[in-house]
Amino acid sequence: MTFTLARAADGISQLLRPVYYYLPRKFRAPGTYWNTLEFLHGSQYWDEQRIIEFQLSQLRAMLRHCARNVPYYRRLFRKIGFDPDFLKQLSDISCVPTLDKDTVRDNIHDFLAENIPASQRVYCTTGGTMGVPLGFYNLKDSGWRERAFTEMQASRVGFGGDQLRAILRGAVIRGKKHWTFDQRQHAYLFSNFHMTGAQVTVYARIMREKKVPFFHVYPSSALDFARLLQQERVEPPSFRAVLAGSENFYPGQRQRIEAFYGCRVYAWYGHSENMVLAGECETSHDYHVSPEYGFVEVLKADGSKASAEGDTGELVGTSFHNLAMPLVRYRTADWAVLGPEKCACGRKHKLLREVRGRWHQEMLVGKFNNRISMTALNVHSDIFDRVNQFQFFQNEIGKVELRLVPKTDFSQSDAAAILATFSEKMGDSVDLQLVPMDKLPLTERGKFRFIVQELKGLDAPQSPECEPIA
Ligand SMILES: [Zn+2]
Repeated sequence: MTFTLARAADGISQLLRPVYYYLPRKFRAPGTYWNTLEFLHGSQYWDEQRIIEFQLSQLRAMLRHCARNVPYYRRLFRKIGFDPDFLKQLSDISCVPTLDKDTVRDNIHDFLAENIPASQRVYCTTGGTMGVPLGFYNLKDSGWRERAFTEMQASRVGFGGDQLRAILRGAVIRGKKHWTFDQRQHAYLFSNFHMTGAQVTVYARIMREKKVPFFHVYPSSALDFARLLQQERVEPPSFRAVLAGSENFYPGQRQRIEAFYGCRVYAWYGHSENMVLAGECETSHDYHVSPEYGFVEVLKADGSKASAEGDTGELVGTSFHNLAMPLVRYRTADWAVLGPEKCACGRKHKLLREVRGRWHQEMLVGKFNNRISMTALNVHSDIFDRVNQFQFFQNEIGKVELRLVPKTDFSQSDAAAILATFSEKMGDSVDLQLVPMDKLPLTERGKFRFIVQELKGLDAPQSPECEPIA
């Protein structure tokens, strides 16, 4: 019954959609969601041996699928003489070379599984992390599976899928009041792009009146909201927890958020490519890597495995779920510091003390002195498909150049789509101009900045330097 209704949503007319979203979730969510939740309830306290057996069987199944159905891996496995049936222990995966983003970008159709019809997959993008867009495919029901995984993690601080949230995470909200209720997510959405003192006072009043228990944010948006409320001398709404993802935490930020809002911050790490998911638990701030989600390695700069607490390495992931476009030992370009061996919560998960993702807390400054985080500007559409690299440049409040290196097939309609997308997001608070360039400048030290800001006399957050992507 539930499955039929959920499937029906794909073909439902625009007219009936609002009615559909008023249905309780138990009627909307498909089997993928419920089965995943049920499975995760049973698996979260597995012992080490059970986890290893599970991961080994998942990994072997995924590698067999790659060998049989994915042209890139058929060729690669033949070339290196790799047979998935010979995978006896997890470390045997190191026979397969790691995979970088450029290889995926240059060979995207070779990674598509031939036995998955186009109708069962969806196209997604990473939205241009570090200024280099990457498109990839996932299974159509991946969103519901993802939701089950993330809800299961957040349930560790009392969040259940049906509870109210206030979301301040880059939603585009049409209309003049800059906030709305989204029946589909059962959440109040607030615009990041209109955060002035007067506007956040209204936001806080709504959150209080509606008694919203959870605040779902980017760390930078929680801090910016706090800054403006303090400036207006407005008390923060009362939350049970602040759910913070998608950006790095910098030293002291978690403490500042917890002190201001008077509740626990719950952080997690995930990425668009869906190979690594890790969240905190009830008792600790270490990120627990979900062993049911994918096979995750932490590799040091020399390629060897990080194994001791405090070791730093790149997160390298193999999905257990994306049959449409399987990626094996995919280098995420995100870095982690290994945590302790064990956690008091009893879960036998790999622990990460810290994750340094691609998303830094860079901010543009709008005409109303409002701050717009780069994370909020992230787009998941295909507008950057014909762009090699891009970078934001600002030397005047309210004015921003989007500098981009176009591919040869870039056209006026691409430019129009990019401008339309950002105009819709930022409204009238920023004048945006597209500036095509042959290449983007690096810093004196040869690093790439996603946002170059030369605003005078303003304490604009400093944009960190990133390693350039070749
Ligand atoms: Zn724990």
